[in-house]
Amino acid sequence: MGSTGSIGKQALDVAKLRGIEIFALTANSGVDAIEKQIREHKPRLAALADCKKAAELKIRVADTGTRVLSGEDGVCECAGSGADTVLNSIVGMAGLRPTLAAIDAGSEIALANKEALVAGGELVTGAARRKGVRILPVDSEHSAVFQSLQGCSAAAEIKRIILTASGGPFFGMKKEELSKVTLADALKHPNWSMGAKISVDSATMMNKGLELIEAVRLFDVPPSQVDILIHRQSVVHSLVEYSDNSVIAQLGVPDMRIPIQYALTYPHRYPSPVRQLKLEEWGKLTFESPDYDTFPCINICRAAIEKGGLFPAAVNSANEAANELFRQGKIGFSDIPMIVGEEAERAPNTDAFTLEDILLLDRLIRSRIKNKVVR
Ligand code: NAD
Ligand code: MG
Repeated sequence: MGSTGSIGKQALDVAKLRGIEIFALTANSGVDAIEKQIREHKPRLAALADCKKAAELKIRVADTGTRVLSGEDGVCECAGSGADTVLNSIVGMAGLRPTLAAIDAGSEIALANKEALVAGGELVTGAARRKGVRILPVDSEHSAVFQSLQGCSAAAEIKRIILTASGGPFFGMKKEELSKVTLADALKHPNWSMGAKISVDSATMMNKGLELIEAVRLFDVPPSQVDILIHRQSVVHSLVEYSDNSVIAQLGVPDMRIPIQYALTYPHRYPSPVRQLKLEEWGKLTFESPDYDTFPCINICRAAIEKGGLFPAAVNSANEAANELFRQGKIGFSDIPMIVGEEAERAPNTDAFTLEDILLLDRLIRSRIKNKVVR
């Protein structure tokens, strides 16, 4: 899912290398990109969320054996088609229904789409638990934690999960400087080449806030047990501190094909095209605390997951809306944390919620934010 994106393309590289058969491919609207992928990987099914584009794709690939589905329902049908593993690299909450469809079909989930887990919370983890379906992290930090947890025999032995953060392109800047940065500046990530939305999230550090919530959900630890550490080189991908103060980390050159492959081949490891890590070439690795005052999104997310219920979903929706408005040039960079912070206070206070509650809240928050900006 999301095969035409940054993670999707790398996942197809890994699949090709490992001889993994592709059953279905889905994307939003990129007809050219998905047509090329269909011709190369010959999936049984494909879907585009954009119905018009799906109709175009259907004509274009009529000579292949691939059946083309359309709209969100088509994407969900692909997700729920019962593949052994569904790798979800859709960006944003749009990945939530497909994730639930894949779990419902009993497929193992390789999850890059953190927003679905942040917003869906117990809806997703509970469904996976009931179905006996594993959610394997693709996000590099969570893959590192997952790898560092192999061999851990009891949850009580985990003292702390430490997520590393590169700090993004604006590391070291202060609030006044941040008010002047542009979209082009925000898209220049120091270590990773990623989609536009997550690149902006890395610049605001919202990405690390979402990852904090993702860690709480994936590893079932309280938020107080998840810490953030700035590590500019993105070589130490994250760490687990145990009760005896022993710390286990996973290292590697920054390349998503390692966590993607591990999620697809777990518990086994295979050769990969990723460059060897030679620490002598890096020489120095640095670690420091985040500047929570200049980058308030991490603590907004921490407060949201501490409150629980619909608060994480509200924060995620507000961020998706603000992030998009910034990319459209309609608001400034510093407006993003302000908007997300405002919406974080307004979520309905409830523990029990359904998928419909999340989708309704999402629509409400998006329209409220857009109306405010247009005026
Ligand atoms: P991207 O923008 O490059 O790709 C997104 C994919 O999702 C595309 O294939 C697009 O067609 C599809 N898509 C978008 N909207 C859709 C919709 N409404 N319905 C169905 N499909 C839709 O993004 P990316 O950088 O590959 O990131 C994907 C996800 O992986 C995000 O959740 C991101 O946070 C996470 N992630 C990415 C990286 C990275 O290195 N790129 C690392 C860790 C986690
Ligand atoms: Mg990450």
